[in-house]
Amino acid sequence: MSLPSSAVRNDWTRVEVRALFELPFNDLLFQAQQVHRANFDANAVQVSTLLSIKTGACPEDCKYCSQSGHYDTGLDKEKLLAIQKVVEEAKNAREKGASRFCMGAAWRSPREKDMPYVLEMVRQVKALGLETCMTLGMLDGDQAGRLAEAGLDYYNHNLDTSPEHYNQIITTRTYQDRLDTLARVRDAGMKVCAGGIIGLGESREDRVGLLTQLAILPAHPDSVPINQLVKIPGTPLGDVEDLDPFEFVRTIAVARILMPKSMVRLSAGREQMDEALQALCFMAGANSIFYGEKLLTTTNPEAEADRLLFKRLGLSPKVEQAIAHPEGDALLAQARAQAAAGFFDPAAHQGQPLWRDAMVN
Ligand code: SF4
Repeated sequence: MSLPSSAVRNDWTRVEVRALFELPFNDLLFQAQQVHRANFDANAVQVSTLLSIKTGACPEDCKYCSQSGHYDTGLDKEKLLAIQKVVEEAKNAREKGASRFCMGAAWRSPREKDMPYVLEMVRQVKALGLETCMTLGMLDGDQAGRLAEAGLDYYNHNLDTSPEHYNQIITTRTYQDRLDTLARVRDAGMKVCAGGIIGLGESREDRVGLLTQLAILPAHPDSVPINQLVKIPGTPLGDVEDLDPFEFVRTIAVARILMPKSMVRLSAGREQMDEALQALCFMAGANSIFYGEKLLTTTNPEAEADRLLFKRLGLSPKVEQAIAHPEGDALLAQARAQAAAGFFDPAAHQGQPLWRDAMVN
């Protein structure tokens, strides 16, 4: 199969996507590398930081999630964090070289009384010169417009799985609800971050369906997080069968080929991957990660391990898009210097229980 490496298409068919999944592994990775190199620096990986601004007691019943109020996962709940606390964490992240700060709340959708706080968080984090991203659940058009006006750059809203498999994973909302929120985010002018979770007990055809749905959106998501299920005891998917790791790599590679200009993010589940598997994912076209310290019920690879892995693979954190801000040049120079020195200090967040998993909303 030949493919123009930079062509952006929104008319992918399931037949084509299935054919990519069925390629011999080496052929698929070769093609993904070609597409990757035609569109990105193959040795640069964007590093984002995620903070949970409201944790647990979510009314949704996502069968994989530690934060759902439907399951007893032993999670400590937290109310919406104070604005000042969020700003402090964003400053910490900036000092460690992060260019984007993502804030996640375990909500079905934001309540009106929470909106002023959320909007102020966006304004203040943005004022630090960071790109801002939020994941707050479903939005109506008015909420999307107000978030955009406050300066929110990205909105994360995952499709999770294929349309056919969706109601086996979540029953409290529909696939169409998700697509509607994504449309409102796009219409409000924000960038879209949308991906899914692999290893939910879905079939390959469901993975084909998920990636096809993402690739036929009117505009490809700017960021495509591909999560590997983190099995949480107490959730219905707590003991689902393991997925073949090569199937995960295939999913990354197909996402890279279908959405050539999107950042493909290796998100939740990285802790469960050994370094060789992570390296294969980078080779398959993943070019964005979350990093963090101890998470709430799951862990992300320790910061030091990430730094060493980057060094061994000759990867560098992508900091160039750091900053449209009055202090932008200085911040960029600082971020570059930090990147050159090793992109974060693992001691910096010790004892802080605030860094959460990427797999919310
Ligand atoms: S994934 Fe998001 S919406 Fe679903 S239960 Fe967890 S926090 Fe709630």
